[in-house]
Amino acid sequence: MEKIKMNTPIVEMDGDEMTRVIWKDIKEKLLEPYIDLNIDYYDLSIENRNETDDEVTLESAKAVEKHKVGVKCATITANEDRVEEFNLKRIYPSPNATIRAYLDGVMFREPVVFSCLDILVPTWKKPIAIARHSFGDIYVSKSFDVKKGETLKVSIDGKEKYEYSPDYDAIFLTQYNKVESIKYFAKESFEYAISKKMNLIFSTKDTVVPGYDSVFKEIFNKTYENYKDEFEKLGIEYNYYLVDNAIAQIMKSEGNILWALKNYEGDIMSDLISAVYGSLSLMESAIIGNGTYLYEAAHGTVTAHYRRYQKGEITSTNSVALIFTWASGLEKRGELDSNKELHDFGVKLKQAVRETIENGFITGDLIKSYNKENYTKVNYLEFIEKVNEYLKKRLN
Ligand code: NAP
Ligand code: MG
Repeated sequence: MEKIKMNTPIVEMDGDEMTRVIWKDIKEKLLEPYIDLNIDYYDLSIENRNETDDEVTLESAKAVEKHKVGVKCATITANEDRVEEFNLKRIYPSPNATIRAYLDGVMFREPVVFSCLDILVPTWKKPIAIARHSFGDIYVSKSFDVKKGETLKVSIDGKEKYEYSPDYDAIFLTQYNKVESIKYFAKESFEYAISKKMNLIFSTKDTVVPGYDSVFKEIFNKTYENYKDEFEKLGIEYNYYLVDNAIAQIMKSEGNILWALKNYEGDIMSDLISAVYGSLSLMESAIIGNGTYLYEAAHGTVTAHYRRYQKGEITSTNSVALIFTWASGLEKRGELDSNKELHDFGVKLKQAVRETIENGFITGDLIKSYNKENYTKVNYLEFIEKVNEYLKKRLN
């Protein structure tokens, strides 16, 4: 078979620990034999971030802006322990935060759903994905102590808008968002729903925060007008609900919903959704912004498995989300470049992963939720080998 060609590069951000090990195997065993990979490579390992004083992180984000499509391996977020472990010059910020801030995108998180794996909410037969606005609100907030008898004043260009003088010791919070960013969040949410043929729900608490949250609500409702025809054509729906009502609606649903949420609710609900679908290793994640697409797995570097790997164990770490990361990246690259062969390769790679699991070849983390009679527990290498077998059949 002749290898698939790539005209434009995909940005590759390499990472740390167990995911770095598996990442390399995925590339060598599932991609390189079939594709003439065209890659703009950035090593985001903690060692190289330290070496480059973290400049490599920003460079990699700029590369995604340039080439439009990237794939990211999981990376260590530094803390005191890691400073000691790797003899770091300082505590570097989370690479994800740096990249997200630069790309100013919307974060999407979506589970890979299998009928042979039980989930905590049995009625959810199809994926529930989260679109999280990843800018602003309490993530850019400032707190002020206001002591009994003190007065806090809010003014705009000297014009007083609000005054607060409590007769108790109090704590006061300010937060903001950018109107442009909210518009963008809405647009990307509608487009993602269309691309996945999912119903879209947007929710805030505009009854309690009428000024602030109404802006979000109105922007979403207005944006919907641009997409109404397409939604109707595809037979999907858009609904706005108060956030508590949204929870009730979603619990009763069978899935196939993209749930768009403000920054804080999105942060929390994306973890809740991951928990329901069983394993973090089955969660895909994407940052989509200004025509750029960056894919990654939702999980971290799986340090606990890496410690055992370092002692010589071939762990049963699940590589589904990492393989899907590459597959989605190649699919998107193919789509943007009208490179059908490359796009279809991504689709087939995902199908091969599905076949592997549906035929009972599963990693340890999936055993508890597996609901068919027979399964074979495989280690991470055996899993990739199995995927490769199914992939070969599909490519022939
Ligand atoms: P983690 O890497 O997600 O792993 C937590 C636990 O979840 C693992 O010990 C394992 O449980 C299970 N798990 C996660 N992914 C799995 C997989 N693919 N296959 C099988 N089991 C899996 O979280 P962490 O241990 O809290 O964080 C490790 C490092 O990752 C930290 O340095 C953190 O900063 C970083 N991190 C990076 C990202 C990112 O780059 N996007 C995200 C989160 C965390 P068992 O041990 O019970 O098998
Ligand atoms: Mg969180």
